[in-house]
Amino acid sequence: MSRRILTDLSRDELTSWVEGTGNGSYRADQIRRWIYGKRVSSFDEMHDVPASLRNQLSEEFVLFASKISRHQTSKDGTEKLLLEMSDGEYVECVMMREEKRRTVCVSTQVGCAMGCVFCASGLQGLKRDLSTGEILDQILRADRLLKPDERITNVVIMGIGEPLANLKNLIPALLTLNEKGGMGLGARRITVSTVGLPEKIDELAELNIQFNLAISLHAPNDDLRTEIVPVNKNIRIEKILKAADDYFDKTGRRITYEYVLLAGVNDGNEQAVELGKLLKHRNAHVNLIPMNDVAPLALHAPSAPRTNQFIETLRSWNVNATVRKRKGADIDAACGQLRLDQQANAEPVVHSHDVT
Ligand code: SAH
Repeated sequence: MSRRILTDLSRDELTSWVEGTGNGSYRADQIRRWIYGKRVSSFDEMHDVPASLRNQLSEEFVLFASKISRHQTSKDGTEKLLLEMSDGEYVECVMMREEKRRTVCVSTQVGCAMGCVFCASGLQGLKRDLSTGEILDQILRADRLLKPDERITNVVIMGIGEPLANLKNLIPALLTLNEKGGMGLGARRITVSTVGLPEKIDELAELNIQFNLAISLHAPNDDLRTEIVPVNKNIRIEKILKAADDYFDKTGRRITYEYVLLAGVNDGNEQAVELGKLLKHRNAHVNLIPMNDVAPLALHAPSAPRTNQFIETLRSWNVNATVRKRKGADIDAACGQLRLDQQANAEPVVHSHDVT
């Protein structure tokens, strides 16, 4: 029988398992401290856990859900991992360094079913959901890239996949990231980015935890949005904004609206005005993302002056807007691109940095 992924177990589940082995339940917290706090890469390194229990752990579980298939480092310090899951599927995660921040961008699915026309992740549809442990694994892997004095400060759920389409597996992962006995990251340092699934936004709000919500709007009206984000056909912007407003009322967290700027498609002054009107009375921040080129697609970012004009127009409607900084451009750090490459080549990847 194949071994289970340890991080698929919640604290309660691990506690029951430990009790089942005849050990004291406090051993579960001890084990979790080694994984989330002390960055071990094997059960053997868990020195204060009895050897017999360590043996049982390694017979039943794997500590990592993935193998590192490729590890790239950008000139700006961004690192990107291509991770191979036990069934041979690939996902990506990215660790971005800023002066005071280390932000990890995490995937939630293998592929994506949303089909946004500018996005590399959805080009070949959805393969499957990631499990809770497979989501957390990306954080563990990124954490082990850091120097001893560096810590992960922020997590963005903005990698491959639609996080809210896999909410069942995502929620336990979010809770572990947030828990003291887990990664211990404040909820305000964790951002979930969604295409905008209203019922799922409501479900997330019901947790009553201050996770940040980012909504990929990309257009100010339904006709244009449905062209760019096909799932919008059955959703509509109004319902998304209602769910977002409720999320703000419940959590007090200002909503971020992401808007990929596509030259000649949604970057006109007309759209900026329409977006301004839509958001001016809301507690919102617009994050403009110049399109990152995706090889098979004929969509591109507008010029810098056009981008600046778009921002100025939004600001004239009293809507807060910034342009997302590009990180790791030299390593294709925009998510989905490496996995796509990997599939196109269908050859085993050459650089192996497996540390399991
Ligand atoms: N499915 C989620 C999270 C994944 S992507 C969502 O839709 O929000 C995170 C952000 O990157 C989204 O706003 C997405 O629209 C954007 N994105 C995807 N491909 C891009 C590209 N080629 N250039 C710029 N932004 C892109």
